[in-house]
Amino acid sequence: MTTDAYIAGLPKVELHLHIEGSFEPALMFDIAKRNGIALPYDSVEALQAAYNFQDLQSFLDLYYQGMNVLQTEQDYFDLTWAYLTKMAAENVQHVEIFWDPQGHTDRGVAFEVPLHGIKAALKKAEAELGISHQLIMSFLRHLSEEQGFATLEQALPHRDAFIGVGLDSSEVGNPPEKFERLFDRCRAEGFKLMAHAGEEGPPAYVRGAIDTLKVDRIDHGNHCLDDPELARRVADLGLCLTVCPQSNMRLKNCLDIRQHPIRAMLDLGIAACVNSDDPAYFGGYMNQNYQLIQDGLGLSRAEIGTLARNGITGSFASPARKAELMANLEAYEAEAPKA
Ligand SMILES: [Zn+2]
Repeated sequence: MTTDAYIAGLPKVELHLHIEGSFEPALMFDIAKRNGIALPYDSVEALQAAYNFQDLQSFLDLYYQGMNVLQTEQDYFDLTWAYLTKMAAENVQHVEIFWDPQGHTDRGVAFEVPLHGIKAALKKAEAELGISHQLIMSFLRHLSEEQGFATLEQALPHRDAFIGVGLDSSEVGNPPEKFERLFDRCRAEGFKLMAHAGEEGPPAYVRGAIDTLKVDRIDHGNHCLDDPELARRVADLGLCLTVCPQSNMRLKNCLDIRQHPIRAMLDLGIAACVNSDDPAYFGGYMNQNYQLIQDGLGLSRAEIGTLARNGITGSFASPARKAELMANLEAYEAEAPKA
């Protein structure tokens, strides 16, 4: 059994996926046509050719442009269902996905529209594909804390539809401390807390996410390694880092996959897991992300197993579902041919 086949069959969970970042160019053209919206590209190929990013911001500019075509519940359902059927084919058994409500409400789409469309697809996938899920509402950090509070007010009537809140978009210049009061409020409301930190930002942003926002999980977290004491602390806390290898390469946060930080995280005992972030833009879903680091770092099967376990442990699945996911992984490891 080749390692690629082993990874393809491995039971996986994904904890860091922006549903708007799974918007494939072909579907974007279909929905744009359906909604009578003109895209500034002649073809799927021309759009794909624009996915040549220099950094996080150059990606975000296209990411927001892409989501502009999403308008109806059906659009959000189609987007989410396309992602989930791909995940079923990759043996991804549990997903925790972000949506960016402010990217939709700010252009006049009602708060409920994306939420209902995304949730309908997630429920269908649970029933028909056996994929369990949690949904996470993410605040855009380039906007103000006041705007975050306004979004939270819109969200509270729907609080049972999602388990937690995150913080994403342009990191540098928008430190965790900017959102301290908002996260205090979300914690008091009983939400799980996450923040992107240390993707492009310095170790201080990871420290801020831990000490000021008091997060349950960190998205990316790569730059915690720049501060050995902080890295040790992240390991000791058992804090899950949702690492996204393909994203790091495409946004030039890692220039050589043989130097990817997930190697050092594994060596330090940091609870890192593998995720795809914005797969339609970065050219790889879950299998490709595992394969990328496998090819670059020559991971052992035990290390691949550690990454998969960290995803299950770091998830917000129920204890019973976590036990089920772990049993599926262990059965696979026991049965897969050794070579
Ligand atoms: Zn992300």
